[in-house]
Amino acid sequence: MARRKLSGALGVKYGFSLRERYMQVLKKRRAIYNCPRCGTGFLKRISVGVWSCRKCEYTFAGGAYEPFTKVGEAAARAAGVKSGQ
Ligand SMILES: [Zn+2]
Repeated sequence: MARRKLSGALGVKYGFSLRERYMQVLKKRRAIYNCPRCGTGFLKRISVGVWSCRKCEYTFAGGAYEPFTKVGEAAARAAGVKSGQ
């Protein structure tokens, strides 16, 4: 246990494919996203699916681990809302 990698949180448990998915989620959570309204602020994850801009305090609901999801885009299109506005 001299070296701890990011995947060390799960150790050797749960099998490879699940750890791989867990890593993808962690990467998404650590990534920096720009605000869709002001474009310059950074998004902060307040809670599961709730994101807020640090600059203009624009708060909106998004994906659990990333602010924009494929499902969300489809829903926005269906609702007639252009993303990024
Ligand atoms: Zn903003």
